[in-house]
Amino acid sequence: MVNAMLFSLKQFERRFPNDEACQAYLEELRWPQGVGCPGSHCYPTEPPWRPSRGRRLICRKCRAQFSPTSGTLLDGLHTPLKVVFLSAWWLTVGSRLTTIELQRRLGLPHYRVAQSLRLRWRLAMLEDLGMNLSEFGLCGRTGAPGGIEQRFRDAHREAIPGVPTYSTGSKEVFELLLRSALRLKPIKETDLRRFFRGEVVIHREGEPSSS
Ligand SMILES: [Zn+2]
Repeated sequence: MVNAMLFSLKQFERRFPNDEACQAYLEELRWPQGVGCPGSHCYPTEPPWRPSRGRRLICRKCRAQFSPTSGTLLDGLHTPLKVVFLSAWWLTVGSRLTTIELQRRLGLPHYRVAQSLRLRWRLAMLEDLGMNLSEFGLCGRTGAPGGIEQRFRDAHREAIPGVPTYSTGSKEVFELLLRSALRLKPIKETDLRRFFRGEVVIHREGEPSSS
C-alpha cells in the first residue's frame, strides 16, 4: 500500500533534479516576494545579477554578493545544493541513519562533511520543534546522541499538536526543515559539534526579511 503523504526518492528526484532547482526553491522559500538584498537600507527594484551557474547573486544597486543560504545555518557549506537537499531528505525519511550510512548514501568522500550536514539538520529539527535553542544550550551536556530531540519530543508531544514526526518523511516536513535552517544563523563547524555535546549556546535569527 502506498502512502500518499510520503515524499519518495522518485518524487524528490523529479522535484530537485539539479542544483539549479534547489537554488530556485531556496530563493522562493527565503524571498517569497522576490529576491531581496541582505545589505541594510538596500531595496533593489531589479532582480540580482547571476554571474555564473553557482549560488552567487549580485545586488544591482549596492553590488553586494550573496546567496539564498548566506546568513543562515546552511552558510559555509561547499557541498553542491543537490547533495545538501538529499541529505535533508535522508534525514526526514530515516532519522536513525548513522553518519557513516549518510556518507555512503550521499557518496561523500569525507566523514566530516556528512557529519556537518547531519548535525545542521538536527539543529534545524530542534528549531522546527519550537525549542528555545539558546535556553537549551545552557542546560549542559545532553547525553547520548539523539537524546536532545527525544527529550524534547517526550516533553512536548502532547502539548504541541502537530509536532512533526521526522520518520514520516513527508514533503511538508522536508519543507519545514529547510525553512528552519533558513531561520538559524550561520554556525562554525567546531561550535556545531560542541553544541551537540552541550557545551555551546546557539542564537536564533529573526524571520528572514522578505521586503
Ligand atoms: Zn544591495
